[in-house]
Amino acid sequence: MRERLFHSVAFIVLVLLALAANLSVATAAHWTVSIQPTRLVNGTPVLFRVTTPKPVRTLSGNWLGHEITFSFDASHKSWFALAGASLETKPGTYPIELHAETSSGQSDRQAISFEKKIRVERQRYPRVLLTVPGRYTAPSPEDLRQIEQDKETKALIFETLSPGREWKGSFTPPVNAEISDVFGVERVFNGSVQSTHQGLDFRVPSGTSVAAVNSGRVILARALFFEGNCVVIDHGQGLLTLYLHLSKFSVKEGDDVDKGQEIGLSGGTGRATGPHLHLAVRWQGVYLNPQVLLKLKLP
Ligand SMILES: [Zn+2]
Repeated sequence: MRERLFHSVAFIVLVLLALAANLSVATAAHWTVSIQPTRLVNGTPVLFRVTTPKPVRTLSGNWLGHEITFSFDASHKSWFALAGASLETKPGTYPIELHAETSSGQSDRQAISFEKKIRVERQRYPRVLLTVPGRYTAPSPEDLRQIEQDKETKALIFETLSPGREWKGSFTPPVNAEISDVFGVERVFNGSVQSTHQGLDFRVPSGTSVAAVNSGRVILARALFFEGNCVVIDHGQGLLTLYLHLSKFSVKEGDDVDKGQEIGLSGGTGRATGPHLHLAVRWQGVYLNPQVLLKLKLP
């Protein structure tokens, strides 16, 4: 009887040990996906950080129909990529699909993948009434010709998708000034023309030095009808920043710029109610909230 009890106890202990061993294997080798900011709303950029269950050579993902390429951050032993959710994204949960190839040994390379559901919440944006010179809401035939031409120019520029990442570290503000208008505001110009404010306005007088928010290449530096004198910087992997209403250019198309380098002077050219700097962020075809990008802590 005593011996039987001993056998039963020994058996239970063995089962428990086996379970514990299994459990520790499972927790040591799994995927983790985290986001910054932790609460994601429509119209904001997002930094994905991923750890993989095994060392991998490359990591790519699919998010809201966009292909994203991850970079490895050796100091955090994790992979990271910037992405975003457009203003039009409906609230709900959306999967990020991750694909990687393990780097252990030449012969036993293995494709691994993972999917995690990410919640996008609804952000409500305010509505304001503004007054601008009449030609910006009722353009002349000549103005309309320029608007059409600008559309083609912008469509070409906005298609830019350089494979390499040019940005490094956190983004820095283009000017040291207070914010005069936020992203996402529904604006009604002269009581008739409706437009969503797809950037961030800084209250600066004309002639203020405007700096690149991160490193990249100038892909546009020219006058456009609504944007006025406009600079677009390509930071790679589909991330662009736009600087509008400038009074003067300090760079030309094709120039490489460093973070903090002057790209022009602020002004009030184009459709503006007065001198200010309008900063916009585009990622793979959608406008994102620059205020959130400027707050992200990036490797
Ligand atoms: Zn603006």
